[in-house]
Amino acid sequence: MSSKDWIEKDYYAMLGVQKSASSDDIKKAYRKLARESHPDHNPGDPKAEERFKAVSEAYAVLGDEAKRREYDEMRSLFGSGAFRRGARGGGQPGGGVPFDVSDLFGGAAGGGDTRFGGGGFTDLFSTIFSGGGAGGPARARGPARGRDVEAEVALDFDDAVRGVTLPLSLRAPGVCDTCHGNGAKPGTQPKACPVCHGAGVTNRNQGSFSFSEPCRNCQGVGTVVEEKCPECQGTGGVTKTRTLNVRFPAGVADGQRIRLAGRGEPGERGGPAGDLFVQVKVRPDELFGRTGDDLTLTVPITFVEAVLGTDLRVPTLDGAVTLRVPPGTPSGRVLRARGKGVVRKDGRAGDLLVTLDVVVPAAVSDEARSALESFAAQTPPAAREHLDARVRRVG
Ligand SMILES: [Zn+2]
Ligand SMILES: [Zn+2]
Repeated sequence: MSSKDWIEKDYYAMLGVQKSASSDDIKKAYRKLARESHPDHNPGDPKAEERFKAVSEAYAVLGDEAKRREYDEMRSLFGSGAFRRGARGGGQPGGGVPFDVSDLFGGAAGGGDTRFGGGGFTDLFSTIFSGGGAGGPARARGPARGRDVEAEVALDFDDAVRGVTLPLSLRAPGVCDTCHGNGAKPGTQPKACPVCHGAGVTNRNQGSFSFSEPCRNCQGVGTVVEEKCPECQGTGGVTKTRTLNVRFPAGVADGQRIRLAGRGEPGERGGPAGDLFVQVKVRPDELFGRTGDDLTLTVPITFVEAVLGTDLRVPTLDGAVTLRVPPGTPSGRVLRARGKGVVRKDGRAGDLLVTLDVVVPAAVSDEARSALESFAAQTPPAAREHLDARVRRVG
């Protein structure tokens, strides 16, 4: 069972009880409804079976104190506004409204910075975050907070390290400017729904219980439009594109979520806007890795360089540096180029950690072979006595 189910389904209504009902009342209501709709008592009646399943689902949540608390919390968090919006958007309460972020950089980058050019930034996408949610039947028409919006952005490795400001183009449902969202043709007004008399909900009797459900005639809005607004075809909503410049701070990490307060969908009837959450993906670099604010790099060196020492020129994200490999350096030794990692706004900086990897040639020339043999003759054997003792014991 998903949280979307929880947001969309009114389990109290399904059991025909008040939200304040005691757990005893819930149990009683469930037993009665379950008995009435039990498949054994209603052989071959698919509606009864469906009702039985719904009642069981509702009781699985409301009958469990902990789950019921969680459910109540979620419904109060996500409980307002969205039903209306959903209804206007086409009658599906709480369904995801199509929404996407599209690539802005095709022409906007102007050719100067190839990082923003055609190829670099194509996998932007986003979905409506489940904020706002579906609240059940329409409530009082007070101000409603706009939905939160979630977007995902892939950053190049360098941009994530240095920080970058990128334009994000968000396409999202917005309020129709022609009718200001009420869906009525200019000069006309929506009328109270004749079926529910403006309440947005109707009651259906089920045995001795009365179920509240969203009015089908007005989709829970409480009003109906007789002459539709030509701009939005009566839905009150249109797709709007807006562009935001989003600042990604230096050192933003893969998987990080950036919140831009008030940059989500606009509120309704004077309510505050929702928030925009940008989920960051960082594309890997072909050379560098990253651990927190340190960058990492592996540099192959020869056995001779490790033995005799050498100066290495290595790249950083910000120019090249020379690193001294002292004579007698073992494979795997990590050298540090200070301050060549992520530089934070406050001046703190990570380092570039260079791991030396002594590479053994797969084949050598005859000259090299004889040079190595004379090297071996001059060199004490590797210290393996501790192993040899064990070999004798176990061998
Ligand atoms: Zn309109
Ligand atoms: Zn109605």
